[in-house]
Amino acid sequence: MQKSGNQPRPIPAPLEQPIIASDRVPANVGGEQLTETQLWQLLDEVKDPEVPVVSVVELGIVRSIQWLDNQLQVAVTPTYSGCPATELIEQQIAAALMQAGIRDPQVTRVLNPAWTTDWISDSGREKLRAYGIAPPQGSASKMTLLGHAEQISCPHCGSSHTEQVSEFGSTACKALYRCIDCLEPFDYFKCI
Ligand SMILES: [Zn+2]
Repeated sequence: MQKSGNQPRPIPAPLEQPIIASDRVPANVGGEQLTETQLWQLLDEVKDPEVPVVSVVELGIVRSIQWLDNQLQVAVTPTYSGCPATELIEQQIAAALMQAGIRDPQVTRVLNPAWTTDWISDSGREKLRAYGIAPPQGSASKMTLLGHAEQISCPHCGSSHTEQVSEFGSTACKALYRCIDCLEPFDYFKCI
């Protein structure tokens, strides 16, 4: 038996159609077959530009997805009004959906009810901590009752012996803290 290993590989014929969807592509090429679970999994691949380990789904930014007249509607609530990353997040969500074959998805910004840190999922909180950002502690509603007396745990060593350095960290929605035990500075995702 002869080995075919030394034979030159056939050169693939050029594609007749460009892979990139054109205007002639019918609506929702394959995309309409995605289940709701698959759509959520798809959006779970879209990461927060400010904290690239956490997805927009884990942050609770994506509020709902639904089909309306053959168009996929995605409701997005920014973490706080005026968050500069919101527009980029909306673009990335639309891009991810279009890449999956959904044509012209509509991403709508919903400001009411306002986003709260309570909407961050458990896996999202865990990833924030692993990334070196202290996740919001307790719930936003409790914070209102208790004020700011709560101690923030260091995401590096777990010590609750920490102090606030500045009300604003790397972004406006985070505060800058420092651990008194391990001396590491860290961002705290403020409870809102
Ligand atoms: Zn520490």
